Amino acid sequence: MDYTQLCYAEYFGLPKELSMIIVYSLASLTVILFFYFLKLRLNRYGIGLWEFILILLKGYRAWLPFLWDIATHRRFTKYESIGAVAHLMILYALLLSLIGTLIVAANQYIGIVTGKEVFCGYFFLGYSLVMDITAWVLFIGSALGIYRVLGRKELYTRNEYYTNLLFLVGFMYLAVSGAIIESYRFMHMDLWRYWMFMPNALLLSSISSSSVLYMVIYYTHFPLAFILIAILPLTAIFHSLLGLYNYIINYKRPLGELSKPFDLKELTAESATELKVGFSNVTEIPKLNKAEAIACTDCFRCQDACPAYAAGRPLSPMMIITKIKHGLYNNDDKLIDGSIADDELWACTTCGACMNTCPVYIRHVDYIIDMRRYLVMINMRIDQKKSSLLLNLSQYNNSMGMSNYGRHDWLKELGVKTIQENPGFEYLLWVGCMGSFDNRTRDIIKSLIEILREANLLDKIAILGDEETCCGDPARRLGEESRFQELALNNIELFRKYNVRNIITICPHGYNTFKNEYPKIDSWMRNIKVMHHSEFLEQLINEGKIRMNKNNIVFTIHDPCYLARHNGVVNPQRNIVKKLGELRETKYHGTQTFCCGAGGANYWYDVPEKKRISHIRLEQLMETNAQTIVTLCPFCNAMLTDAARIKGVEDKVKILDIAEIVKSSIIKPQEVKVSD
Ligand code: SF4
Ligand code: SF4
Repeated sequence: MDYTQLCYAEYFGLPKELSMIIVYSLASLTVILFFYFLKLRLNRYGIGLWEFILILLKGYRAWLPFLWDIATHRRFTKYESIGAVAHLMILYALLLSLIGTLIVAANQYIGIVTGKEVFCGYFFLGYSLVMDITAWVLFIGSALGIYRVLGRKELYTRNEYYTNLLFLVGFMYLAVSGAIIESYRFMHMDLWRYWMFMPNALLLSSISSSSVLYMVIYYTHFPLAFILIAILPLTAIFHSLLGLYNYIINYKRPLGELSKPFDLKELTAESATELKVGFSNVTEIPKLNKAEAIACTDCFRCQDACPAYAAGRPLSPMMIITKIKHGLYNNDDKLIDGSIADDELWACTTCGACMNTCPVYIRHVDYIIDMRRYLVMINMRIDQKKSSLLLNLSQYNNSMGMSNYGRHDWLKELGVKTIQENPGFEYLLWVGCMGSFDNRTRDIIKSLIEILREANLLDKIAILGDEETCCGDPARRLGEESRFQELALNNIELFRKYNVRNIITICPHGYNTFKNEYPKIDSWMRNIKVMHHSEFLEQLINEGKIRMNKNNIVFTIHDPCYLARHNGVVNPQRNIVKKLGELRETKYHGTQTFCCGAGGANYWYDVPEKKRISHIRLEQLMETNAQTIVTLCPFCNAMLTDAARIKGVEDKVKILDIAEIVKSSIIKPQEVKVSD
């Protein structure tokens, strides 16, 4: 046969009209069943079919970035290989198979309308080869998937386990049956000359000559594909659709922003008594979050990334979601005082590594904080250290339990003016609780002040003095939402009163709270530019306001979770450090950083653990053999300094804030003159 006559022969050797009627009837039934099962599944979580469809449609802006994420498998490959490769192979094979099916259908319709089929000749040969390779990719990917599912049976619900296997075995059957169908056509159309475009057909020629076998295979191949599509919403493969749903419901929501369960400003005495905060059982979980959790595929990625799990704390983010999911499946609704222990919730540092790596975009921290809210606000079940923190916040308006009176007197002695003394200020320096009261952190602030003095910017800076309080981050992360909102509202009022336009802070927790959470308390906060001091220092360097010496020092950077992962600030610190010496990165850096152990209010209480998170982190940093570890957060600095002291390695490595290394490298104007 001449190659130009080669074309897709969909109903080759079959009664064409009858086959078309069967195929299109089953396809229509598949669509009806798919939506019926989708409705059934969603209704279990209280979500309507149209509500779900509208969420997907209204979130159309998120579709492209979502597809890009999936196409690159960016999240899948972060912590794991076999599962990532298997998933990638299956996904691309199914996509290419779908394209192949659409080409066949399009060719048919074009042929019916114009009397001439178009996807023929070289195109047909080329795509035949693609489909042959695709069949292998699907077969091997599915086999790898089965290996992985069998190895973790205990993690799945019955439904998940068997439907995962059903789909994977089904994919393998589709790959083999598709190749046999092609092989039969290859032989009976006498295409031997073109075997190099259809190597599978040649390979299977000995078993695919029977027309009975061909009919059996054909009439099981496409119905199986239809059945898998129709039952998808009832199975664990529903995660393919829920991944998009999760991406949409959290689209553009900063990683570091916690949900707002109520608005304190709008609470009346009556509504406050009826207020429900957090949850202790699965029935109380908001319906959209129920569907979010169901997307979990027990892939272990979040657990592998979790510093609390690595430290042997009683927490696995995967198990938190798995327990919620099992509760939803089995109508076994007790979480707190049921499947989840209090310490699992307290072990979380809210570092965000789990959320950053989850391939179906689950926000684990939302669930953990909601259960903390239940423990703190409804049940009041907290230990002494957590109670002390809350007491400090309510009595002193700061997390350190010290009087706010005179908290910035030492700064005034350095020539820094308060906001009342300097009404023309440009930047509010948010000193923070650590900066105000902790001696080590005061040194960091002092270095920053010296830099500002060198840059002749001290007059543009002001502090709040006695009026400064806690930003509210520890209260919110501990689960005390009312205290957080109270502090936030007071601070916003102050910012408004003094017409604050720019905030500089050395604390990534304050940075995250002002930038991502305050605007949800009062939209006026969107007018304020919040800067971490690393961003501000980089700006000063770029503007030539400070000049620095480069030395032979080897640095490594410890990126704070709330700066790098939650807010994507990873470049300023690197740009600065590279100007001062050599930078050696740890394996976990930038947005993939590893927690110091202090976040999520963990700085103020203890959790049972086998090894301290800060010790694990210090070891990772010291593996670089850097002389100086650069920190960008007073809490990280305190945790790592403490770890170095306990491990007895204080002499081997310096732990300094970015402001301190900049300050010690500044070239004074007189030195510039001399060197000029
Ligand atoms: S936020 Fe961090 S500590 Fe908490 S569960 Fe996720 S990875 Fe673990
Ligand atoms: S929550 Fe996400 S990352 Fe964790 S096991 Fe489930 S799917 Fe994987």
